[in-house]
Amino acid sequence: MNQELIKELGSLLEKEKKALTEELGTFAHPDKNVKGEWDANYENLGDGWDENSQEVTEYATRLPMEHSLETKLQDINDALEKIKNNSFGICEKCGEVINEERLRVNPSARNCTNHS
Ligand SMILES: [Zn+2]
Repeated sequence: MNQELIKELGSLLEKEKKALTEELGTFAHPDKNVKGEWDANYENLGDGWDENSQEVTEYATRLPMEHSLETKLQDINDALEKIKNNSFGICEKCGEVINEERLRVNPSARNCTNHS
């Protein structure tokens, strides 16, 4: 695989990782027990009925956001790991090289166009 391209995509991935980590950090915190897992923050706004229901509503909107960002971050971490292991840009299903166009759109793609 083209080393220049890997370098270029690698730095894109690093940037995206930083941005995602910062975004997650605004409403979630890393799970102490499971590496790579994040937990949405549950904010204690007060003990009144109104405050409690607001807390639950906020938590409920944070959870899916946290999940989708966490999944993206996981994909990025895996892709960065693959760069280290020289297996970047290889389809996880068939072992074929993923085409450049696809990788440029999504550098953390795990599969080729046939297996997405
Ligand atoms: Zn494939």
